[in-house]
This record gives sequence, structure tokens and C-alpha cells, in this order.
Amino acid sequence: MSEKTLSIVKPDLVAKNKIGEVVKRFEDAELRVVGMKRMQLSQQQAEQFYAEHSERPFFGELVDFMTSGPVVVQVLEGENAIKKNRDLMGATNPNNADEGTIRYDFCRGNEDLSANGVHGSDSSESAQREIAFFFQAQDIVS
Ligand code: UDP
Ligand code: MG
Repeated sequence: MSEKTLSIVKPDLVAKNKIGEVVKRFEDAELRVVGMKRMQLSQQQAEQFYAEHSERPFFGELVDFMTSGPVVVQVLEGENAIKKNRDLMGATNPNNADEGTIRYDFCRGNEDLSANGVHGSDSSESAQREIAFFFQAQDIVS
């Protein structure tokens, strides 16, 4: 079933100039970028986006990191896009991620666990909420 998911290239990989390499992973896996923008998140946007983690000890660092520089938010579309993107990303901790995943290949060795390169929606409910968080319907073109 074709579905949509939200991806974020986080500030660490934008700073490393790896936007294109991340997009290539998606395209090689037959995901299409149907919405895309570069933006600087405000503290309030980062806090709202990650609200589910607000009670976690790493929340403050995560918000600081996500607002430390520009991000690229994308809507990806394709068969099983949500799981496919999660598989391409790899485990949350890049040092535990499988070789060949975005997080292993571009972020391993990072000391700050927030700096793991990419975000991806983890369920269809999250995908719907997260896409609507950043995109108007007319800015997504299949
Ligand atoms: N994170 C962190 N420390 C942790 C767990 C998570 O800094 O112990 C950060 C990391 O950037 C992660 C984000 O918080 O991507 C959201 O955590 P989640 O468990 O949802 O991981 P994800 O879905 O991104 O793999
Ligand atoms: Mg998550």
C-alpha cells in the first residue's frame, strides 16, 4: 500500500552537506520526495514536534540540537514508506545501527545521541500528525 511519511534531515547532516546523499538513499529505495523544505526550527516548534518526549531526560538537549541549525523536512511517498524509511535510517543510536543505514554510515561515533542525522515517523498516526505539522496540503504534490 502506498503511504506517506515524514523525514527530517537533522542539523548535523545538513551541516555536513549530506542532504543529497540522504535523498539518494530514499530514491534508490523507490521512495519519492513529494514535499520538501529547508527551515530553521524555533524552540517552540521543536518542543511541540517532540512533545511525546517532553518528560524524558534528553528532551532539553534534543530541542537544543534540533534548533542548532537548519533542517530539511520532507514528505516521502511509496510502498510501505513508513517502515521503509525507518529501515533506511537504522537504530536510534548510530553506534548500534546496522552498517549500510543512514545513521551508521553518516553518524556513527557521534557522542551526542541527539545528533543521529535523521528523523522518521514511526506509525501512520505519527506520520499524519508530523506531515500536517510542517506541510499544507497544497505543498505536497504526488
Ligand atoms: N534521543 C536522545 N537520547 C536518547 C533517545 C533519543 O537524544 O536516549 C533523541 C534522538 O535524536 C532521537 C530522538 O531523541 O532520534 C527521538 O527519540 P526516539 O526514541 O523517538 O528515536 P527515533 O524514533 O528517532 O529513532
Ligand atoms: Mg521516534
